[in-house]
Amino acid sequence: MHELPIIGEVVKVALRHAEQNQAAKIVKIHLAVGDLSDLVDEWVHHYFNHLTEDTIAKEAELVIEHVPIVIMCGPCKKPFTVDKKEMDFSCPECGEKGSDLLQGQGFTVKSIEIL
Ligand SMILES: [Zn+2]
Repeated sequence: MHELPIIGEVVKVALRHAEQNQAAKIVKIHLAVGDLSDLVDEWVHHYFNHLTEDTIAKEAELVIEHVPIVIMCGPCKKPFTVDKKEMDFSCPECGEKGSDLLQGQGFTVKSIEIL
């Protein structure tokens, strides 16, 4: 399962943020996950609960937002969205394989609410 190291990183970022702000507890963590990273929400929550067990993030709510895959087509100079289920990286206009990934990869901690 590749969720574990990623969630480990998220928890680390959140705890560091809380520590820097002398927070008593972490209330909410807003996470944006790119569709390319293929994380399963259920596992994300499972690992999150496990990793925060003995921390001030124990009761934090983890909000997962999915970021669609957007690719720029070289010839058309137009971005297009890739359906997560189909994973077809061809441009709908010209059929070329898109060259530049604009979004949809990896994960970002968007916000952390602390008390
Ligand atoms: Zn195109």
